[in-house]
Amino acid sequence: MPLTTTGELIAEARQKRTAVAAFNVITLEHAEAIAAGAERAGAPAILQISENAVKFHGGSLTAVAAAARAVAETSRAPLSLHLDHVVSADLFRRAHAEGFSSVMFDASKLTYGENVKATAQAVRWGHERGLWVEAELGKVGGKEGEPPLDAHAPGVRTDPAEARAYVESTGVDALAVAVGSSHAMTERTAALDHELITRLATAVPVPLVLHGSSGVPDKEIRAAVRAGMRKINVGTALNTAFTGAVRAFLEAHPSAVDPRKYLVPAREAMAGTVAHFLRQLEG
Ligand SMILES: [Zn+2]
Repeated sequence: MPLTTTGELIAEARQKRTAVAAFNVITLEHAEAIAAGAERAGAPAILQISENAVKFHGGSLTAVAAAARAVAETSRAPLSLHLDHVVSADLFRRAHAEGFSSVMFDASKLTYGENVKATAQAVRWGHERGLWVEAELGKVGGKEGEPPLDAHAPGVRTDPAEARAYVESTGVDALAVAVGSSHAMTERTAALDHELITRLATAVPVPLVLHGSSGVPDKEIRAAVRAGMRKINVGTALNTAFTGAVRAFLEAHPSAVDPRKYLVPAREAMAGTVAHFLRQLEG
């Protein structure tokens, strides 16, 4: 089906009081697996490409974006394209032309004042082109002139009043908040602060985003969605599935050379992971 937009998917999820899952694409097999998993679960999903994945592809967004778009357009599931953790202003400005309907603009390395200024500017530019813009806020705290604490650093929690002020001064369409998850966890042991999610959902006028959901157990994800999370980002869990399947195959077949032999089980393992996460959001 034709590419859908992240804004539409999130608006629909908001209405149904559920969430949309966004999965990170690194290789073509990731994109194919996300589409297959979404079809299997009968749910929409977001194909998300991070600035780090663009760096992996030699700094070129075009090929990986074109592949993800082609996979989305030929899928039976409603899929959108999102550019994730974008620090580079150049990359941000290329999103629209490459078929992305949404971008997460990451100004977290800047001081609070500079962050607000850069994000507000990116939002204005994006909105003129119909882009849906996500940002994240850790803890403003810190000393005057220092960047806010990284939303992904362990122990950091977003303050509801600070989050509301940040959204009002930047105009972002969605906000990633720090509530107990962190990036790149290979075990699902994170405990979320559900009371804080509820307070954030009340204080912040835009949808909330959970990053680092790979490390969050199923029932914690379901509770987070009930408390008001509307976009659930999953990256590492796909790579754990992919690499586990490749490793198992190569250990069992040490003389294998044809990549299709191990990429088939790798892609299948990722599709299973995608479908599993999407089923947690059914409510
Ligand atoms: Zn993230």
